[in-house]
Amino acid sequence: MSKGFGESDFAQILSDKATTESVQRLLDENRLQAERATSRKATGEYGVCEDCGQKISAERLKFLPEATRCVACQTRQERQ
Ligand SMILES: [Zn+2]
Repeated sequence: MSKGFGESDFAQILSDKATTESVQRLLDENRLQAERATSRKATGEYGVCEDCGQKISAERLKFLPEATRCVACQTRQERQ
């Protein structure tokens, strides 16, 4: 008798699928965010927080070139 397609295998496939989808969503979000940063470069708003209008620190931009918000506003956004 061969080994059946167990519940744990099915759960594994489901979780693999979920991982793939969340990775894909992250990639999409990153791409959108990178496009936003690029369009802000074109309008001369790059490096300025889109929420409070303050300059984003050079340190942050070096670490996260696609950032369009300062640390405080990004943190607030992520909490919502
Ligand atoms: Zn801000």
